[in-house]
Amino acid sequence: MSPALFRNVDGDAAMPAEVDVAIIGGGIIGASTALELAERGLRVALCEKGAIGGEQSSRNWGWVRRMGRDVAEVPLAMQARTLWQELRQRVGADTGYTESGILYVASNAREMANHEAWHAKTKHFGLESKLLSAAEVAALAPGAGRKFVGGLYTAQDGRAEPYAATAAIAEGARAKGAAILTNCAVRGVETQAGAVNGIVTERGTIKCGAALLASGAWTRLFAGNLGINFKQLHVRATVARIEHSGPAPEFAIGGTDFAFRRRQDGGYSVAVRNSNIVPLSIDNFQLMFDFLPNLRHSWRELQIRFGAHFFRNLAIPRHWNTDEITPFERTRINNDAPYGMLDQQALKNLIQAYPAFAGAKLTRGWSGVIDVTATALPVISAAPMPGLFIASGFSGHGFGIGPAAGRLAAELITGRRPSVDSSPFCYAW
Ligand SMILES: Cc1cc2nc3c(=O)[nH]c(=O)nc-3n(C[C@H](O)[C@H](O)[C@H](O)COP(=O)(O)OP(=O)(O)OC[C@H]3O[C@@H](n4cnc5c(N)ncnc54)[C@H](O)[C@@H]3O)c2cc1C
Repeated sequence: MSPALFRNVDGDAAMPAEVDVAIIGGGIIGASTALELAERGLRVALCEKGAIGGEQSSRNWGWVRRMGRDVAEVPLAMQARTLWQELRQRVGADTGYTESGILYVASNAREMANHEAWHAKTKHFGLESKLLSAAEVAALAPGAGRKFVGGLYTAQDGRAEPYAATAAIAEGARAKGAAILTNCAVRGVETQAGAVNGIVTERGTIKCGAALLASGAWTRLFAGNLGINFKQLHVRATVARIEHSGPAPEFAIGGTDFAFRRRQDGGYSVAVRNSNIVPLSIDNFQLMFDFLPNLRHSWRELQIRFGAHFFRNLAIPRHWNTDEITPFERTRINNDAPYGMLDQQALKNLIQAYPAFAGAKLTRGWSGVIDVTATALPVISAAPMPGLFIASGFSGHGFGIGPAAGRLAAELITGRRPSVDSSPFCYAW
C-alpha cells in the first residue's frame, strides 16, 4: 500500500454556535492562525471541507527555507524559522522540523548570476547563505553526474514533514481551545450592516465577529461568490517518494531540473524542479493581463495545457446560495494523480544529477494544485468587507513561512501591530 500523505486529525463532534474568529480552510495557514488566536485566548473554529492538511500542505516538498525568497518575504521567513524551532514545544508534537541545510546547485552562468544577485540583495538581513564555487559544491555534495558551476548554500535552512506538521499544529490549537471541524465545508458568510457576523457551513451557521479565508486554491472561487475579485491562478506540480538505501546528503539539493530532500520515514521526496503545469481555465483568460508581467520571469518553468480540465472547470458553478451544495463539498480533497510521467521523470533526472540514486525505487507519486498570485507574493490582508481577512496565494512557498503567516494573520485580525512589515502582503482591492 502506498504511504499516506497526511496524518489524519479527527474533527470535533460538536460545532460551536458562536466564536470570535472562524477560519475557512485547514491547511498550514489556517491551522497556524488558529493556534495563534487560541493562544491569545480567542474562541476559534477551524473549518475544513475535507481533511486537515489534505491539500497543498501535505503534498509539498517540505522545504523550509529563507534562501531564494523574494526580498519582501525574507523577514517573514526569518520569523518562521524561530517559530518552527519553538513549535514542537508549543504544540507538544513533532513537526519533523530540522535545520539540515539546503543547497541550490547552478548548472550554468545564468543560474549562478541569479544566486549572486539574490545574495547581494539580501546581504543586509545577515542570513548565513553562502555562495559556493564549483569545487566547494563538489566537496559538499560529491558524486555528481553533471558539472555544476557553483551554488548557494544555507546550512540553517531545512525541512519539516508535510505528513505531520499541519496535523500537529491543528491539534495544538485544539489543545488550547480551538474547535476543529473536518468534512465541514463553509458555503458563505453572513453579514450585518455589511460586516461579517457569521459563516454558513454545511452543518449550520457559526456566529463570529471575524472570518479568515485561508482556503488555498479555492480562495478565488469562494471570494467570487461574495463579489470579491481575488486574483489567483492554479499551477499543478508533481512529487514522488523514493526508497534509497545508498549514501546521500542529509541536506536537500535543488538543481535546474531536479530536487530532493530526505524524509522522516526513511525515503526521499523528489521532483522535477521548475516544471509546473498550467491547466488552462477561464480564469487564465480573465486574469491574463494581471499575470503577464510575472510570466516574463517564470515562463521557462511553466507548461501550458489545454484539455478536459478546461471544460470540467467551466462546469463549476461560480455562484450559489448557502442552502445549496457547493463545489467545496463536491471535492473534499484535490487529490490528483501525478501529471504525465513527471514522478518517473523526477527520479530519472535525480539519477543523472547524482548517480548514487541509481538503485532507488519509486514508491508513490502525487500532484498538488498550487495557488499563485500575480506577484508570486502571498496575500495576508483585510478583505473589502469589514471583518473578513484573507491569507492565501502562497504561490508554491507557503509551507516554510506558514507559522509566521499564521502569526501575521492573527495580528491583523486582532488589530495588533504586526511583528513583521505586513505591507508587501496587503492586497490593493
Ligand atoms: C507540489 C508542491 C510542492 C511545494 N513545495 C513547497 C516547499 O517545499 N516549501 C514551501 O514552503 N512550500 C511549498 N509548497 C507550497 C505550500 O504547500 C503551500 O503554499 C501551503 O501549503 C499553502 O497552505 P494553505 O493553508 O494556504 O493551503 P492548503 O494547504 O491548500 O489548505 C487550504 C485548505 O482549505 C480548504 N478549503 C478550501 N475551501 C474551503 C471551504 N469553502 N470550506 C472549508 N475548507 C475549505 C481545502 O480543503 C484545503 O485543505 C508546495 C506546494 C506544492 C503543491
